[in-house]
Amino acid sequence: MSTEPRNSALITESDKCVMCGMCLPQCPTYIHAQDENESPRGRLVLGKALLRGELKVDSPIRQHIDNCLLCRQCERICPSGVKFGYFMDGLRETLEPEQKTAINPLVARLENPVQTRRWHRWLRLAQLSGMKGLAALLPGQTGRLARSLPTIGPLKPVQAHYPATSETGTVKLFKGCTQTLFGNRLLESSVQLLNRLGVSVEVPAQQGCCGGLSQHQGRAVQANRLAAINIEAFAASTYAPILTLASGCAATLKDYARQADPDAGAFALAITDISHYLQSLDWPKDIQIRPLEKRIVIHSPCSLRNVMRQQAAVATLLARIPQATLLSLEQTTNSCCGAAGSYMFEAAHEALADTLADATVQQIRRLNADIVVTSNIGCAMNLQTSLKRAGLETTVLHPVELLAQQLIVD
Ligand code: SF4
Ligand code: SF4
Repeated sequence: MSTEPRNSALITESDKCVMCGMCLPQCPTYIHAQDENESPRGRLVLGKALLRGELKVDSPIRQHIDNCLLCRQCERICPSGVKFGYFMDGLRETLEPEQKTAINPLVARLENPVQTRRWHRWLRLAQLSGMKGLAALLPGQTGRLARSLPTIGPLKPVQAHYPATSETGTVKLFKGCTQTLFGNRLLESSVQLLNRLGVSVEVPAQQGCCGGLSQHQGRAVQANRLAAINIEAFAASTYAPILTLASGCAATLKDYARQADPDAGAFALAITDISHYLQSLDWPKDIQIRPLEKRIVIHSPCSLRNVMRQQAAVATLLARIPQATLLSLEQTTNSCCGAAGSYMFEAAHEALADTLADATVQQIRRLNADIVVTSNIGCAMNLQTSLKRAGLETTVLHPVELLAQQLIVD
């Protein structure tokens, strides 16, 4: 199939850039390297030249393209409306056949539900036997991965339908692969809270991984295959709100709208971050939340801020916890924690991932936080690892997990 129409669409997108430079001070890789090639504007220029065949894909140029975190901070502030995420995913897809990026084994396992369940069993066994702790002492990628893993909870059977006793609405829940890999505690908390608010929950059985990790590596065929599975699993004609438990997945599911298929567009429209949905409901007067006298820092993942644009709901939701002190990170520190999907596990990127996470953790330390909440599992893993490296005992939780913990059950 010819790539010409795709390439010319990408070139047209890059032509929207008026070179104003407003994105440069917002870009984590530019701030770190102080190099135009590591900026959004620089990447648009390089990418356009590559697409036109004016530049050859050599290793340093490929590195500038691959170093992008796809945080999309540039997209949010760009006055010309350059769709940087669309451009970068398309560019990597175009370059992929020329410069094969090795498929990260972590990605391969997460995208295959059978392997994910098998891996959950193995990780839980490793945790219960103490092997996970030993693996965390190892150097290299194995040790890094083991140090980043959260507590691996049990994997309880997931029902297709969780009816509420007093029904005010119905939602569908997108689990994401991590609710299989790490156990499904967050899914249970979410169902408990939604049911208590009178919302029935459906969890379509055939859903799978969102495909975000493949999409950002330029493996579009695999990403599109996963998208098709999810669109079919959520029954295109009857969209209730589709709630997501990780904002990284939510951003990818929103990007399904790039496809010409009208079902993909309708699916993308229904995607909502769970905190945003919970905050939008009328809460029953008799609901009781246990007080929590703790300092809680709210971390807003890039995917929630720059793509979903639903970050404000978390503070409003957590304000329901009596006696909790809610604290925000400064915008500069909050720009990207460096997790960026599989970026934090890639040898070429782990140093920058650590630098960005450590900058966030320094501020968490200054704020004297007891708890950090974040809506994305990747950010939670990267921040928890960095907190441990800094010798801090701060707990990292999803906001819904925290709220469910404080819910007084009759
Ligand atoms: S902010 Fe937008 S228009 Fe300005 S340099 Fe960056 S990408 Fe180009
Ligand atoms: S997506 Fe993020 S890292 Fe990539 S160019 Fe834009 S601001 Fe920089």
